[in-house]
Amino acid sequence: MLSKSKTKLVCTIGPASANIEIIRNMILSGMNMARLNFSHGTHETHKVLIDMIHQASADLGVHVGILQDLCGPKIRLGTLPDEGIQLRAGETVILRESSCSIVGTIPVDYEGLHREIKIGESILIADGIMDLEIVEINDYDVVCKVISGGIAFTKKGVNLPQSKLRIPAFSDKDRADLEFGLKERLDYIALSFVRSAEDLEEISDIISKSTYHPKLIAKIEKPQAMENLESIIKAVDGVMVARGDLGVEVPFEEVPHMQKIIINKARSCGAMVITATQMLQSMVLSPRPTRSETTDVANAVSEGTDALMLSDETANGQYPLEAVKTLSKIAKAAERYSLSSLSMDFAPLDYSKRLDNSQGSDEHAEDLILGLARAACWLAKDINAKAIVAMTSTGYTAYSIARFRPSSIVLALAPTAEACRKISLIWGTEAILIKEVNSSEEMISIAIEKVRTAGYAEQGDKIVVVAGLPFGTHAPINFLRVVDIF
Ligand code: PEP
Repeated sequence: MLSKSKTKLVCTIGPASANIEIIRNMILSGMNMARLNFSHGTHETHKVLIDMIHQASADLGVHVGILQDLCGPKIRLGTLPDEGIQLRAGETVILRESSCSIVGTIPVDYEGLHREIKIGESILIADGIMDLEIVEINDYDVVCKVISGGIAFTKKGVNLPQSKLRIPAFSDKDRADLEFGLKERLDYIALSFVRSAEDLEEISDIISKSTYHPKLIAKIEKPQAMENLESIIKAVDGVMVARGDLGVEVPFEEVPHMQKIIINKARSCGAMVITATQMLQSMVLSPRPTRSETTDVANAVSEGTDALMLSDETANGQYPLEAVKTLSKIAKAAERYSLSSLSMDFAPLDYSKRLDNSQGSDEHAEDLILGLARAACWLAKDINAKAIVAMTSTGYTAYSIARFRPSSIVLALAPTAEACRKISLIWGTEAILIKEVNSSEEMISIAIEKVRTAGYAEQGDKIVVVAGLPFGTHAPINFLRVVDIF
């Protein structure tokens, strides 16, 4: 297996990778989490993929989580002729709520369309390739002037960034998909097009009433989500910088800045952050990335993202394995060199600076758990410990450590495969499944055994062990010890 980056890699599984041999090789190349996009496929096709991912992970003895990506309130064109409809700049077209094309109109699958828009607002089609301006609303007919044209095909996405739509945040399809995800015990659930913390109430409620609790991710891809960023982040376990739709919903030149804001805010609030979409887009067709893609991936890493995500590259591209290997290579290099240095000094990435920066500026700095987590990171650095070992039953202890981006190896020892799969998204952390432990002596001896077998430490080395005691009570970190390996 290739050495892994600390930044976690999420790969979308699709036609190009729906094969156990390819999935095994993607894991060997650095994939930590597989994403299933519920905008496509059926529960039956997703079930086949879930079984494949679990089987491939078991074959390799690696814990790979699964992220279920729910569509949310995505508006799409209805059914159009196979050859599509040509929209020419300057001409006028009529959009109408309908599932199929009525002669002379373009169907849109949103029932409130004509009521909730205003003249002068934009309608963007197919990731913004086609740009229309609303010039007239005649009953159900929405008359638009084509600003930039193209060919509109069946089911292409429709964005209305300026309109205040009353479309529900969580559709009947999302509800049914979530039920499926809970039944399959998928590890992370992402909701698309979240606008506010209220949009997350129903999904959070269903998850909290369920006997199984996946982690919740809000996809940030609407301008309204940027306005409500902090309250959204506080309502979830993590966010995704969903640059595909974000770059359609806001002027694309704003996306790089928004990415920085989202990463910073998520990190300071203690939420995970995945940076997604078009990271290596050219690798859909080419075995090598462009220089600008390489730089984009490295920048996301040096901005502090927890994870990087591939979409089309692994779902539909010709080079899914090369894309994962390339992402991993760039992430590892970016972790070695600080690109954020304003002095343009490409010095080794100084994680202690991050520790310094978090001191005092982090609203949770006084918090005992984080204080202990930070102390563990400092201590590991000061004594040159070979690893920080976090005993964790939910992943929380490991995540508290990861927030400080320690340069040390972090091993999370967890008693269930489900916890290990959730840990697969935690920055710089490797999950190891252990049996239940009942005493601190037992914990220490298991920690020693696991770091030795993993080859991270040998006789004479030191490790730092952290835990929340008593075991099994989900207690926050209250135990920190330096252990000599004998
Ligand atoms: C995105 O828009 O960037 C995204 C990740 O969502 P999707 O792939 O569902 O469009």
